[in-house]
Amino acid sequence: MSSNTISIVIVGYGGMGSYHAKHLIAGNPRLKVTGTYDVLPERQAASEQDGYPAYASYEEVLNDAAVDVILIATPNDVHKELAIAAMKHGKHVICEKPVTIYAKEFEEMMAVSEETGRVLMVHQNRRWDEDFRIIKAMYDKRTIGDLFQIESRVHGANGIPGDWRHLEAHGGGMLLDWGVHLLDQFLFMIDSKITSVSSRLSFILGDEVDDGFDAILEFENGVTAIVEVGTTNFITLPRWYVKGTEGTAVIEDWSLKGRAVVRNNEVGKVEPKPIQAGVGLTKTMAPPSEEATITTTLPAAFEHASSFYDNFAAVVQGTVEPIVKNHEVLRVLNLIENIFEAGRTREVIKDFDTYTSTK
Ligand code: NAD
Repeated sequence: MSSNTISIVIVGYGGMGSYHAKHLIAGNPRLKVTGTYDVLPERQAASEQDGYPAYASYEEVLNDAAVDVILIATPNDVHKELAIAAMKHGKHVICEKPVTIYAKEFEEMMAVSEETGRVLMVHQNRRWDEDFRIIKAMYDKRTIGDLFQIESRVHGANGIPGDWRHLEAHGGGMLLDWGVHLLDQFLFMIDSKITSVSSRLSFILGDEVDDGFDAILEFENGVTAIVEVGTTNFITLPRWYVKGTEGTAVIEDWSLKGRAVVRNNEVGKVEPKPIQAGVGLTKTMAPPSEEATITTTLPAAFEHASSFYDNFAAVVQGTVEPIVKNHEVLRVLNLIENIFEAGRTREVIKDFDTYTSTK
């Protein structure tokens, strides 16, 4: 570490590796990308062109005493071996998600972090997404009462992207790719044990890995989470749809378009007027009368104490706890394994959650 600047080498200079360099680390005064390593000569050339010197081999990175941190942004199946070698050579590690395909592999990485005293932090960056932080504020502050059903969806229509994401051996598939983010958000928000999980995996596109999935998680505190990832959705459902004891809220998309509708407790019970619905008449499904509800904007988002990278730098300097904790990451990987199992067997799975209260 030269003075206060932490030197980072990015291993895997593809889509995400280069995004880290140009958008996430650039501009942070405490961190500096001092080089990259990629197995592909064309990605090494791209790195040089972007102004980041390319190392000729991983050994060269490992043996360079000037390197403080190795950031791993390769396909998922090689994260573990690269991370363990890095920590054994005295480097701190940031690893992309999903950190490993199986929980057991991450346990091995955690053990090496313990042994070597090197920081190991997983880039679960979507804990910082504003749409999620708004839902977390609603959950924590009970702005529409107690949330009892939270539906989180990401829908695309472009199938599985790229090359390695189509292959099981590389840890491809959408449950590992996007599921890990949505599930991490739920477990970060809801401080309660998961009592059961059921799921369906989608193989519409004929890949050997899932092109999407849906899962229902039930928590001991009464919350139900519905999680869905799809890559064959030409019309999308809202990013979030949440039901609370006092109202309902929706966030349509990443532009944060949305609203909450809550019961107006100032007026007494208002009998709805029957409406024509299809060939029938209904009062039950009539929209609430205007005076019975209040439509509001969404609340201000929950704020983390710092950004991912400011937190990482402070963790390396030994001044704070990581926001993304390894036992939380491990819990998500265990959940993913059980969602795969529930999808394959079509059984509801119970008694698997490794939850310990954070309170
Ligand atoms: P990519 O295919 O664009 O890039 C991967 C790069 O790694 C390629 O250039 C490849 O040549 C290189 N590589 C492969 N094996 C290597 C090895 N052994 N040593 C060095 N380089 C190697 O993939 P991507 O989309 O950038 O994904 C990379 C990682 O980042 C994955 O784990 C993915 O899940 C993660 N990711 C995270 C986010 C996020 O928001 N957190 C977004 C996208 C991708």
